[in-house]
Amino acid sequence: MTKKIEQFHPENDAMRVSVLSEALPYIQKFAGRRIVIKYGGAAMARNDLKQAVFRDIALLASVGAQPVVVHGGGPEINQWLDRLGIKSKFLNGLRVTDKETMDIVEMVLVGRVNKQIVNGINQVGALSVGLCGIDGCLIQARQLDNTSHGLVGEVAKVNIDVIEPLLSKGYIPVISSVAASNDGGSLNINADTVAGEVAAALGAEKLILLTDTLGILKKENDPSSLIKHLRLSEARDLIKTNIVSGGMVPKTECCIRALAQGVKATHIINGRIPHALLLEIFTDAGIGTMLTSRG
Ligand code: ADP
Ligand code: MG
Repeated sequence: MTKKIEQFHPENDAMRVSVLSEALPYIQKFAGRRIVIKYGGAAMARNDLKQAVFRDIALLASVGAQPVVVHGGGPEINQWLDRLGIKSKFLNGLRVTDKETMDIVEMVLVGRVNKQIVNGINQVGALSVGLCGIDGCLIQARQLDNTSHGLVGEVAKVNIDVIEPLLSKGYIPVISSVAASNDGGSLNINADTVAGEVAAALGAEKLILLTDTLGILKKENDPSSLIKHLRLSEARDLIKTNIVSGGMVPKTECCIRALAQGVKATHIINGRIPHALLLEIFTDAGIGTMLTSRG
């Protein structure tokens, strides 16, 4: 009994070394490859989870992968809107954004959340640089045709020239999902959408979306209904049949678009699981829902 506990104790050196050794093929596979990570929601809500995410990202960079972080910040935006007495409203999983809300979105995402992430990654020994879509015209956006969403944009083009030099020097780009509108104002873009387009433009190996559920569930609130693997066509059906709804719609759509544009695999995983990123990248089984174009 004692032996068993000892065997699985995290301090057990032999265990640690064997885990590291088993990771070798994955480390080799991802060396020099881009992994786009959408960080937001649940994994941002708790300090211990934040620290685990920062460490995982720093570890990926240290073993030669090129992580790129795109972040949201819904809960923190909601908190500030509440404090200022501004109502939050969502339509088809997207935040309805009037001018007043846009000011708060920009201040919170670009000013606060972005810097917290950059600072957090830097504190654990990697180097990251914060940007939003406006910097270097990284994200060219157009306002959604459907005017009921207000100042919400979609991605027209990603200018990867802004981030390539950072990646080649070993910096981790951390991108907020705010972009410029044609008239010089700002647009709010769903961070999943930005992550998908950035992954496609960079020819990423993987797109990983951290969220607050295990992945895509066939029945909401039933963890046993987790769909572990989905093909493109099946994913489209899940949206059509409303099995996927709300905030899961932009996630599933961005995975579909990223895969169609050449990203090898996309994953929707639970950011509440400590070190979810490493579990996904460095283990055979992986976690959450994996979407691929074939197979
Ligand atoms: P994030 O902050 O990570 O973007 P969202 O709230 O925007 O999170 O999207 C995740 C939410 O999508 C889940 O909490 C869940 O309520 C909802 N959802 C809708 N359909 C599904 C589904 N089929 N499987 C899992 N979650 C779903
Ligand atoms: Mg969302």
